[in-house]
Amino acid sequence: MRIIKRVNEMQRWSMEQRLSGHIVGLVPTMGCLHEGHLSLIELAKQECDTVVVSIFVNPSQFGPDEDFERYPRNKENDISICEKYGVSAVFVPDADEMYAADTSVCVEEKSLSVGLCGASRPGHFTGVCTVVAKLFNIVFPNQAVFGQKDYQQAAVIQRMIRDLNFPVELRIAPVVREKNGIAMSSRNTYLSESDRKRASAISAALEIAQEKYFAGEADAAALSNLITDKLLDAGLNIDYVQIVDGYNLNPVETVNMGDVALVAVYCGDTRLIDNCIF
Ligand code: AMP
Repeated sequence: MRIIKRVNEMQRWSMEQRLSGHIVGLVPTMGCLHEGHLSLIELAKQECDTVVVSIFVNPSQFGPDEDFERYPRNKENDISICEKYGVSAVFVPDADEMYAADTSVCVEEKSLSVGLCGASRPGHFTGVCTVVAKLFNIVFPNQAVFGQKDYQQAAVIQRMIRDLNFPVELRIAPVVREKNGIAMSSRNTYLSESDRKRASAISAALEIAQEKYFAGEADAAALSNLITDKLLDAGLNIDYVQIVDGYNLNPVETVNMGDVALVAVYCGDTRLIDNCIF
């Protein structure tokens, strides 16, 4: 497995892969790898000859009061996990390799990123779009694999790919969960035992809403109230509970197949997100 830190080396190596006829898959991550990330790597391996995992805690997607400094980092362990899982190359740049000190260009998506996480994390999706656009220009992937766990992020990236004509196919992997239902996340390392008990209410609430929908309840307000009540009962602080159209992320009144319930809560100081597709 190649361990690459420099942008020009990554570009050269990836270009060679492409020119030798390989299908290149990119799995962008912020590291502290868990089974959710591994499922993305597995998906990339299905159709790609060369799988590149980027490990980069991207400063531009964190707000000034967010957890950039505290975000868990475990680079050595991540690299050995990638090696074990048959990754072809890891791209592990430093921040000053990715961003010039006077960097002044960014990629802003102006519709799908306005609500939901975009409302409580101003600038977040511009940071995400910018770094993913840069990674596309550094790794030249045929495919990029993202997780459904960050549903809004995947929708925003899909829009960026379309609107900026990136020749990249987006693949989305389902949410991988811990035994108690919590969506796996690097931020779960912040949770205490009692936090984890409370956080398990998130997936339980989404599951109940899903069951009610399949039993015939299609009123979005009724379903989101149900989710809200379960989250409040568990002592979680709600950022948002919304049921939206899965494509344009506009709130819906009547739930149809393919619509998505999206949730963001604070469990203590830790912000957690989750979703389910009806
Ligand atoms: P992160 O390292 O948190 O930025 O995540 C990198 C990628 O892994 C993103 O595309 C996430 O959506 C995806 N991911 C994170 N957690 C999970 C999970 N529990 N299941 C599936 N994909 C995930």
